[in-house]
Parts: sequence; C-alpha cells; structure tokens
Amino acid sequence: MKIAVISDIHANIEALEAVIADINRQKPDEIICLGDIVGYGANPNECIDLVKKTCSLIILGNHDAAAVGLLSTDHFNVHAKIAIDWTAENLLPDAKTFLRSLPLRENKHSHAFVHATPYEPNMWYYITSLEEAAFNFQFFETVFCFVGHTHIPIIIVLENEKEVYVHQGVDIHYTDMKQARFLINVGSVGQPRDRNPKPCYGILDTDAGKFEYRRVSYDIATTQSKMRKIKMPDFLVTRLNDGR
Ligand code: ZN
Repeated sequence: MKIAVISDIHANIEALEAVIADINRQKPDEIICLGDIVGYGANPNECIDLVKKTCSLIILGNHDAAAVGLLSTDHFNVHAKIAIDWTAENLLPDAKTFLRSLPLRENKHSHAFVHATPYEPNMWYYITSLEEAAFNFQFFETVFCFVGHTHIPIIIVLENEKEVYVHQGVDIHYTDMKQARFLINVGSVGQPRDRNPKPCYGILDTDAGKFEYRRVSYDIATTQSKMRKIKMPDFLVTRLNDGR
C-alpha cells in the first residue's frame, strides 16, 4: 500500500496544487493530511476544498483550531496572529464547520497520524530535542507515527525500544530495520522552513518497504503577490523565498 502524507499547507493553494499533481503521478492508494490547512496564505477556502476532495483522513492543526476559535492565539507570534485574524474573517461558514469537525489524532492502516506530538496533541508541543522525541515514542503503539507542525522534514528512529537517533538521509528503506519504530515529520507544503523553499511531502510504500520525501516546484511569485494584496506581514511573504 502507498500512502502520501501532506501537512502544513497554510492556505498556499499554488503549493498545494503542485503537490497534489506530483502525488497523482505517484499513484498512491490514499492521501492523508496532518493539518494546518489554513493560516498565513491567501486561499484558505480553496485549500480546504482541495484537501477535502483528495484526502481520506484529515487531522486538525493548531492554526486550523485558532482560525475557528477552538484555540486562543495568545501563544502565537504577532505575524501568525495577524494571519489568523484575516483567516477567521475570510473563512466561509462551511469551511469553519468542517475545520471544527477534525480529529486531533487518528490511527489508520496501522499507522498513527497527529499534527504536533503523540503526547497530548491538544497542547501543540514542538519536538526540539532527541529527548523529547524519545519521550513521545511511548504515546503511540504503531511502527510509524506521522507528524507535521515544525515544518522541518526529519525522521526519528527508535531501535530496540531504547536507542534513539535522527536519520540523516532523506529516504529510508526500513525492511532491514527489524526492531525499529519511526516518528516521521513530513515537512510542509505551504511554508517549508528547512532552507529549501520547495514544498515537501512524504510517501510511505509498505510493499517496497520504504519512506520517501518528495520536493516539488511551484509559482512562489503568484502566492506572494496574493499575500501582499491582502496585506499579510512582509516577513511571511519573503520567508517563502528562503524556505525559513
Ligand atoms: Zn504549521
């Protein structure tokens, strides 16, 4: 079975369309979205429509929750707050109802899917160290847990339930890694932050025994001009060029 996993679209429809086109060429059985469909970009309603049309499972992100009043923006930085205010004003009623219906975490096909962390997903913690990553392995039972939230593609491996390390390469062939479990951050479609501006997503192929990251190109200038038109902070516009 082939599952494409996308996350952190952030209302960037040009990036999402480019990613979906690339996914369709890979012919996965399903596409799963880990949330943050909205916030930062100019096309939240369009992104929700496309995710609804293409994904078999959709998880709630913190920006989605904030945009519909399920989460306070007190802990958001000033740029994110401005984006959430604009999003809340511009989301259509159906889109709001849809975001409110999304689950915080879900298991599907024996894999775990959550936006931030398996430990208390409603707290929106960031995994910033190997210790925090290791701690999280006790909160899922599956071999794979897929996350987003940091916008940084990274694979944390737990071997023999004790040794934790970060996988340096991009793709993993896991069939030889018998006693291993994996916490996989699939990166971000709409606002990558690993110094690579290209939208990122992942594909798990359980027949081939591999997980692969894919990067695609999109028309950044169009996305940026739309963001300028709705007066998004310049920092949010320019960061798309640098992937930070
Ligand atoms: Zn995000």
